Amino acid sequence: MAAPLMEKDVELGFVEETDKKLLTSRYFPSKIGGHPAWLSLDSLPTTDSLACRICKKPTSFLLQVYSPGAEQVEAFHRTIFVFVCTDPACNKSNTNDNFHVFRSQLPKVNKFYSAEPPDETLPGKDEINAASFNKICIVCGCLGPKTCSKCQSVSYCGKDHQTIDWKLGHKKSCTSKVKQEQEERLYPSLFPEMELVTETENYKPCDKTADKSEEEKMKEYKEYLCSQNSAEGLKDLSETELQKMASEESENDKQLRKFKKRLSHEPDQVLRYSKGGEPLWIACTPKPDNIPDCDCGSKRQFEFQVLPHMLSYLDVDKVGESLDWGVLCIYTCSKNCSIENTYHREYIYKQDVI
Ligand SMILES: [Zn+2]
Ligand SMILES: [Zn+2]
Ligand SMILES: [Zn+2]
Ligand SMILES: [Zn+2]
Repeated sequence: MAAPLMEKDVELGFVEETDKKLLTSRYFPSKIGGHPAWLSLDSLPTTDSLACRICKKPTSFLLQVYSPGAEQVEAFHRTIFVFVCTDPACNKSNTNDNFHVFRSQLPKVNKFYSAEPPDETLPGKDEINAASFNKICIVCGCLGPKTCSKCQSVSYCGKDHQTIDWKLGHKKSCTSKVKQEQEERLYPSLFPEMELVTETENYKPCDKTADKSEEEKMKEYKEYLCSQNSAEGLKDLSETELQKMASEESENDKQLRKFKKRLSHEPDQVLRYSKGGEPLWIACTPKPDNIPDCDCGSKRQFEFQVLPHMLSYLDVDKVGESLDWGVLCIYTCSKNCSIENTYHREYIYKQDVI
């Protein structure tokens, strides 16, 4: 007898506070917010390639996931980076125009990092980072090809971030005789910085759905309705009325219910990682019918998804009222093709609940 199809293991991502030093490039972190901890420290994405495709302004760094390609020498280190435009006007249902995804990878022996694992007990600050190889925008941590023409001491990715920094304090420090250390400012365009830690999902599908009696299914559905707080007076509904409601439940509602049920086992999860597996969709439609192939000609495969719960860690009120998503599914080259130390564009699919 053929073995039943096994679902791939899913690694769940959770957000945790940690020593900020451990979120810098040398420690190969997975994290959300702050500046990107670039993996390859040169050939960073250009300002143009990080601009929002709708408003053309710089996108903000959302998160990075460190996921080494164990069996490939050239991907001994491997990180996926995600950027998003926080302008509410650019956040459109089921479109990815305000997102960018990049893959970076390096062999164990490379020109940036020692092949020895980093020592977490050493004091930080003097760690190697992208600023050792490039001019970096003080606001967003991306390439900063423009320099303040007055003091020549601060770099920016462009006018937008230069203006932000000017208003937030550079106006004073630029001309001041006593050169301050570049003050650590909290830029409103940055998301709060936190570590992403993972843990294998402990989920045993009790595959009894098919055997469930109508009565059991109805009970489950009733419980679900109650949990949605939208079911005042449900107790008084007759079985017939309930059955009618259940049959009217759309395919999308059913999928949303399945989605919530699966997440309810670990309600704090913000990310699900399952390379080559299947996303947990929040709706039945729309789904991508055609994921574009990688530039190398290979198919792309699903790698991980970001859940809506992540939004609660992002202080989104501060950066834009309606930054929102159902799920963000990241697809990467299935061959994990060789890209040397460049940043290679990958694909993101945004699915919303309509
Ligand atoms: Zn935009
Ligand atoms: Zn910038
Ligand atoms: Zn200046
Ligand atoms: Zn490829």
